[in-house]
Amino acid sequence: MSSIVLKPGRERAIRNRHPWIFSGAIAQSAPPHADEVDVYSDDGQWQARALWSPHSQIRARVMTWHPEARIDTLFFHQRVSQALELRMRLPAYTDANAMRIVHGESDGLPGLIVDRYGDYVVVQLLSNGMDRRRQLIIDVLVDLLRPTGIIDRSDDDMRALEGLAPSAGVLWGSAPTAPITVMHPMGLRETVDLTSGQKTGGYLDQVLNRVSLAAYAEGADVLDCFCYNGGFSVALARGGAASVVAVDSSAPALAALQHDMALNAVQMTPHEIVEADVFKLLRVYRDQERRFDMIVLDPPKFAHSQAQVERATHGYKDINLLALKLLRPGGILATYSCSGLVSADLFQKVIFGAAIDAQRDVQIIERHTQAPDHPVLLSFPEGEYLKGLVCRVW
Ligand code: SAH
Repeated sequence: MSSIVLKPGRERAIRNRHPWIFSGAIAQSAPPHADEVDVYSDDGQWQARALWSPHSQIRARVMTWHPEARIDTLFFHQRVSQALELRMRLPAYTDANAMRIVHGESDGLPGLIVDRYGDYVVVQLLSNGMDRRRQLIIDVLVDLLRPTGIIDRSDDDMRALEGLAPSAGVLWGSAPTAPITVMHPMGLRETVDLTSGQKTGGYLDQVLNRVSLAAYAEGADVLDCFCYNGGFSVALARGGAASVVAVDSSAPALAALQHDMALNAVQMTPHEIVEADVFKLLRVYRDQERRFDMIVLDPPKFAHSQAQVERATHGYKDINLLALKLLRPGGILATYSCSGLVSADLFQKVIFGAAIDAQRDVQIIERHTQAPDHPVLLSFPEGEYLKGLVCRVW
């Protein structure tokens, strides 16, 4: 097995159980073809065992801090079982059949995402080490989950950082021939396209936030911005919204939304489905002086790197300022950021700035985060990326 030696003092993060080893922390590297590497501190002490990523800034990801542990099928079996056991215990998901089973680093499997949608499993292999273990991962998932099919959706930008080409397709069994319907908490049904939908098909991280928000929807005129296939729209209609305007730039997502309104028996709720750029549409509504009682802002990730954080904050401020102006007094703004690099603190400051400029008083009534099937490991705070503020606006 290859080994690497860290620069003096750079073992501290590893001792604190952070799994990432950056290229700049390494004094003595491993050969490019290396796979498993033993990690030593400058004074020659064994620290951890990691998987090598020769082309990534995150040059190695720690898999274990136990010198005797082998990173083999049994290891993966144990980690996935442990992850699965947590999901089985989550009370909100008793009647649900869609959830994230493995949330990468936070489940001790850096670079691996596993989402279950009914009888199907969708995986993302986002690191070199996981990519090389494709077959082993398939074997473990088949054994533990007994799916009808395992679908690869490793078409994420993150693979480019690893020097890996995007990959997608059926890894095992078969893929559904059409979008499938899954069941979320509160009996909400969602139609997801596992082979060509966004991410792994749906946004599982928002599942419980939709339920929380539905409690405020009675009688409200709702504007759901960045609605995708309408997770929030459907939940808020079920919560008794008087009307729903759902906006997204993706036509297939909006077609799924239309379908899901009927599927969830809320097609009687007056709804308008708008294919548009939210940044532009909010300006149109401002000029038309349209008003709403509830606005959801759930944009895509604006900051993909530290260099993009400032621009991202301008984007967040822009849409939040516009949304605040469209709310009737006492209205609700549910505003989210899934940019991990924008901290909860910074996000709140941005909303504060928007409130000042919009000349509205804003009370935070709930703080939202990612659903519990996306756990956050204390030693890996980067695993926490979704934050939301539910605000009452005067
Ligand atoms: N709210 C959704 C998830 C939203 S993900 C849910 O609960 O499932 C972000 C969405 O924003 C995607 O559907 C994407 O198509 C859409 N999008 C990205 N940029 C956009 C823009 N400028 N205007 C409108 N929609 C946009």
